[in-house]
Parts: sequence; C-alpha cells; structure tokens
Amino acid sequence: MITLESVTKRFGTTTALDAVSLHVERGEIYGVVGTSGAGKSTLIRTVNALERPDAGTVTVAGHRITELDDAALRRSRRHAGMVFQHFNLLAGRTVRGNVELALEIAGTERRRRTARAEEVLDLVGLTDRATHYPSQLSGGQKQRVGIARALATQPEVLLLDEATSALDPETTRSILALLRRLRDELGLTVMLITHEMDVVRTVCDSATLLQHGRVVEQGRLADLVAAP
Ligand code: ADP
Ligand code: ADP
Repeated sequence: MITLESVTKRFGTTTALDAVSLHVERGEIYGVVGTSGAGKSTLIRTVNALERPDAGTVTVAGHRITELDDAALRRSRRHAGMVFQHFNLLAGRTVRGNVELALEIAGTERRRRTARAEEVLDLVGLTDRATHYPSQLSGGQKQRVGIARALATQPEVLLLDEATSALDPETTRSILALLRRLRDELGLTVMLITHEMDVVRTVCDSATLLQHGRVVEQGRLADLVAAP
C-alpha cells in the first residue's frame, strides 16, 4: 500500500532521509520510530506528498506519487488522511463542523456532509459530542475528532504524526486500541511516526527505526530486538 524506494531528501547540508526504503502492506499498522531529528516528519510528509524527495520513488495506493504533477498530486493525496500531534482543530467550529469542513474542502456536496460527519463520529465513539467545541473536549476526545476528520473522505491510508505524544499513557492506549479497531473494521492501512518505542510495541505489526535519516532496523515487530 505504501512503498518507498531509496528515498533521499536534503535540506541544505542536512540529509533528512538517506536512501530510505520500506514497504507497508495493505491492512498493516506500520511504525516509524526514532529520536528528534531522525527524519520521521520528513518521511511522513514525503508519503503525504507535502515534500518531494531529491531522489527515489514513493508509491501510495498504487500511485507513484513522485512522478505526478501538482494537480494529480492533490487528487492522490485523498488516498491518505493525516492526524497531527496537536490535533489542529478549528476552535470556532463544533466537532461536527470540523469534520464537515474537511468534506467541504474535498468537494463533498453539502447534503452529504452532515450524514458522513455523523457516520465517522460514530465510528470513533463521539456521537454525543458532535455539537461541542474543541475547548470542551479532553485531549483524547480531540484526537478522536482528528481521526474522524482524517477518515471522513474515506482514505485507504491513515498517517499519524506523533498522534499520541501529547496524550497521557491511558489515553494513548485508548487511541491505539481505536486504531487497531479501525484497521480491523475498515481494512485501513496505518502508518504512524513516534519517538516512543512503547507505542510501536503496543500497536505495530512492523516498523522501521530511523537514525540520522538512515534505516537502522526494519521488519516485523516479532523480529525486531533493538530499541532506541
Ligand atoms: P523528526 O521528525 O524525526 O524529528 P525531521 O524530519 O523533522 O525529524 O528532521 C530531520 C532533519 O531534517 C533535522 O535535522 C531537521 O532539522 C531537518 N529539517 C527538516 N525539515 C527541514 C526544513 N524544512 N528545512 C531545513 N531542515 C529541515
Ligand atoms: P517534530 O520533531 O515534532 O516533527 P520539528 O520541529 O522537527 O518537529 O518539525 C516541525 C516542522 O518544521 C516540520 O514541518 C519540519 O519540516 C520543519 N522543520 C524542522 N526542522 C527545520 C529546520 N531546521 N528549518 C526549517 N524547517 C524545519
């Protein structure tokens, strides 16, 4: 579902990604783990086509996105939903309004938006919070909204950028359990980046450990022994 082949990305004299290759199977929960500056954000931004690599190819849901022009790239970005560390919710919109906005941006017609928003809020267990504002929610609830918003347009891939790093351990566990349930129920492919090896151990089927932009460990969780 996601393949990187020898992806290199430089910022000036910094090599953020150095010939990184990895493969994520459909329906897999895949972790990319490493300390700050390892290249995790750059990697996930490359998968979401927010960064273009200097070399190598990136394939997402059958599209070789490194060869697409900007218009085709915007269309292909719909294959992936993105979830952020600090939720990135709009304070002036209700929970449902935040999800509806994502649908509006994606071009969903007005009369479908409310129904679809209610569907995904049900999926993440937030039906009774639909008319609340973000400031009235706990961190875990905010991240559920972030996940609902990412899923609203029915992507095949969910990308999470340190999605549990702002949450306490118990809330983290409940969000990770939600990811597993979504993978099981929707057949979703999940790629998450984190600096916490515990997150990878709890939820991932496979993982890559990055250090200074290089892959230092990679494989099925059962076979990975090293921790950062
Ligand atoms: P991580 O997410 O693992 O903390 P990043 O991908 O954010 O790592 O960064 C990897 C390296 O690339 C770091 O040295 C960082 O400073 C550098 N970097 C990332 N983005 C940029 C950018 N837009 N401009 C310059 N340097 C960058
Ligand atoms: P994190 O480690 O939590 O991912 P960063 O501070 O590394 O956060 O990155 C946040 C954003 O800033 C990213 O979009 C990244 O591309 C950008 N960035 C990171 N390092 C640099 C840098 N040295 N110069 C410019 N932009 C950077």
